[in-house]
Amino acid sequence: MHYDVAIIGGGPAGSTAATYLAKAGKRVLILEKEHFPRFHIGESLLPYNMPIFEEMGVLPALQAANFMPKKGGRFSLARGDQENAITFAEGTFTEEPIAMQVERSIFDKILLDHARDCGAEVREGWTVESYEISTDNKSEGVTITASSEHEETFHASFLLDASGLVNFTANREKLRQYYPHLQKIALYGHFTGVDFSQREQQKTETHIACFGDSWFWIIPFSEKKVSIGLVLDRSFVKESDLTTEQIFQQALKSSPGISQMMENSARIGPLHVTSDYSYSNDKLVSPRLMRIGDAVGFLDPVFSSGVYLACVSARDASQAVIDALDSGRAMTTSMKNYEKQTRTNLNRYREVIELFYQRSFIEILMQPEGVLSWPCAINAILAGRLDLPWALHWRIKTFLWFARLHHRFGLVKRLDFG
Ligand SMILES: Cc1cc2nc3c(=O)[nH]c(=O)nc-3n(C[C@H](O)[C@H](O)[C@H](O)COP(=O)(O)OP(=O)(O)OC[C@H]3O[C@@H](n4cnc5c(N)ncnc54)[C@H](O)[C@@H]3O)c2cc1C
Repeated sequence: MHYDVAIIGGGPAGSTAATYLAKAGKRVLILEKEHFPRFHIGESLLPYNMPIFEEMGVLPALQAANFMPKKGGRFSLARGDQENAITFAEGTFTEEPIAMQVERSIFDKILLDHARDCGAEVREGWTVESYEISTDNKSEGVTITASSEHEETFHASFLLDASGLVNFTANREKLRQYYPHLQKIALYGHFTGVDFSQREQQKTETHIACFGDSWFWIIPFSEKKVSIGLVLDRSFVKESDLTTEQIFQQALKSSPGISQMMENSARIGPLHVTSDYSYSNDKLVSPRLMRIGDAVGFLDPVFSSGVYLACVSARDASQAVIDALDSGRAMTTSMKNYEKQTRTNLNRYREVIELFYQRSFIEILMQPEGVLSWPCAINAILAGRLDLPWALHWRIKTFLWFARLHHRFGLVKRLDFG
């Protein structure tokens, strides 16, 4: 069997790409090492992901799963005395008013099953061990070796790497570069019994609560379950004598705004730990090979952009692969354009993430009066709008410029993060 495209990994990037490719009539194989459903972090989605789900034809299945609606984001100081919320529906430049908060094990399975229903061959429990690419236009293209209970070799014209943080092909080619200023660690788990009675609205928001150099996320993804995570400097955890469990509990104690909500809560399952997740790869495309999703690079969870950027990159890469297959070429201009556009999308979030860690993002957001419609611009970024009309483009640019100046010169009131 010769496939048009083989995909490593059946997460959101892999299954989105497989759906677009199969719908275009291409012969697609996904090799996924796990059996779904499987646990994955990343429950908060962005509104601009919704049109992609609709285009893929998976929206009805997602709606039938009754995920929690996400209507906006809340930023606060974790001690509980200052906050500001953004509601997508109120954003002048935000055309998509609603997103979803999802249990990833269920969500990822719906996407993978949909790819299968669209015609992709999906093999779960298959780990890709190696690959070889011949770059001339005449030979078969890509040879992949994967193992399950036995080893098998697969042939395809193109390879999409959607292996997530495993970063399979780029690691082999030594392309991974870590961001030195984003060396973070995340400690997280799923909780039940979290109390939202003080403010029901928070059930439909992703809440980011900051303290010191650290922050918590609170993501209610079902009526009963909430994802809560703590992000802090990796060096702090490395140098501390405390266990990750003790660090998490201590952080909760110094955050009365959150510990109150969690007074009668219980964790379901272990406290997970993930570090070294912020990186980018030097190259995203080469003849017969494209990287998508987290295998492009990953920045930081703070603006919940991971799944959305994974789906955007998968959609765009599939289009480039379809063009390449139709023209019979191993490398095309569309593939190079994909790399350029994907880096632009990532950089848009990188700039704001850096301002978040400098705290100027929060300090400006907390101002009582929105200057120059910046909250509207922030709203559009948080919703995932990537095509920027001029009126939005200049607002974002002036916001970034002002925030950098504020970081140096203190142009608005500084906040005490504790
Ligand atoms: C702490 C943390 C919090 C986050 N929170 C959010 C959030 O709230 N919202 C959000 O949108 N994003 C969030 N993210 C990011 C999000 O999890 C990812 O961006 C998203 O899952 C990327 O999808 P993907 O398909 O590229 O990779 P994954 O979802 O990781 O899928 C990759 C798949 O490849 C498979 N695989 C790997 N190697 C092989 C191999 N050799 N052979 C076969 N299969 C293989 C894996 O089993 C996996 O199923 C968070 C990330 C972190 C680290």
